[in-house]
Amino acid sequence: MDFEPKIAPLETERSEDTLPESYQLAIIGGGPAGLTAAIYAGRARVRTCVLIGTLPGGQPANTAGVDNFPGFPEGIAGSDLAQRFRDQAERFGAKIAPETAVEVDLSERPFAIRSSRKRYEAQAVIVATGAEPRRLGIPGEDKFYGRGVSACATCDGFFYRDRKVAVIGGGDSAVDEAIFLTKFAKKVTIVHRRDELRATKIYQEKAFANPKIDFIWDSVVEEILGDQTVTGLRVQNVKTEESSMVKTDGVFIYIGMEPKSDLFAGQLELDQQGYILSDGHQQTNVPGVFVAGDVQDPHYRQVVIAAGTGAVAAMEAERYLGRYP
Ligand code: NAP
Repeated sequence: MDFEPKIAPLETERSEDTLPESYQLAIIGGGPAGLTAAIYAGRARVRTCVLIGTLPGGQPANTAGVDNFPGFPEGIAGSDLAQRFRDQAERFGAKIAPETAVEVDLSERPFAIRSSRKRYEAQAVIVATGAEPRRLGIPGEDKFYGRGVSACATCDGFFYRDRKVAVIGGGDSAVDEAIFLTKFAKKVTIVHRRDELRATKIYQEKAFANPKIDFIWDSVVEEILGDQTVTGLRVQNVKTEESSMVKTDGVFIYIGMEPKSDLFAGQLELDQQGYILSDGHQQTNVPGVFVAGDVQDPHYRQVVIAAGTGAVAAMEAERYLGRYP
């Protein structure tokens, strides 16, 4: 079939690059879902490329430790687990491209994808773009993001040796990362909008037993304060409506995730929150386009489940390619 490129060549492309790279299957996303899909597809001898983005590994790569992925009874560093997924995908022949998809055309086969560097075409696609940290949307957050405000304790915790940090949120991420931050910080204050944590009991027990962690309950952050650097927070108690200042040198925000589906809006069916919808077998509304991992999962968001849906998506893609090569 002749391919009329619906996505124009990049201005920076050299003449020999004007034809898109062609695969049976393109996987967009390099977290547990995308790389598990690549393992299954590669092992099934499907010619596969995976666009893993420029910060590969997905969410586990930014997580201190993964305690509940089966097969690692002692737990494993998130970055090590991410590397193992990648090694295994490469072992089965998947091409790993450290590029981010910036445009897709899923209107007809072959599907077209453009990254910041190249164009690709594929007869089937698996979307596994994951989710990203939700923002508070309060004054000071944008100003200090990356300079005192972070959503990655593994990346930035080191900078807070013997300093005070605040963690916002009460879920597994907030409490797990607060415990991790006590390795560096002299004090970690968890600010939570209710008076009980959502986090799993085992994290709660560890946090309550840690003398470096304290809690500000029933409180929301109204503003992140500082001039050149973060110096504190203005928090409001939602029961008394009183505001107060809390001194801190850094803020780690863990208030949940948002699906990374903007690229597919208008082409794939999304729910009201932006999660990609599928039919229970990871098939989206476009035949030949499958979805896996957190971009389609508002409920569980576990590494093992992302990996599981990646495996299903790859098996369904293989079946689809068998019927419509
Ligand atoms: P989450 O479970 O959705 O928790 C988000 C927390 O942020 C909740 O405590 C929520 O408060 C709070 N929150 C939400 N919006 C807020 C806002 N605008 N202002 C202030 N607080 C706000 O998200 P998560 O902790 O990132 O976890 C996501 C998923 O990953 C979960 O399924 C979790 O189990 C999983 N996870 C697992 C592990 C692990 O098992 N090793 C580690 C990390 C994450 P409320 O409680 O009041 O709603």
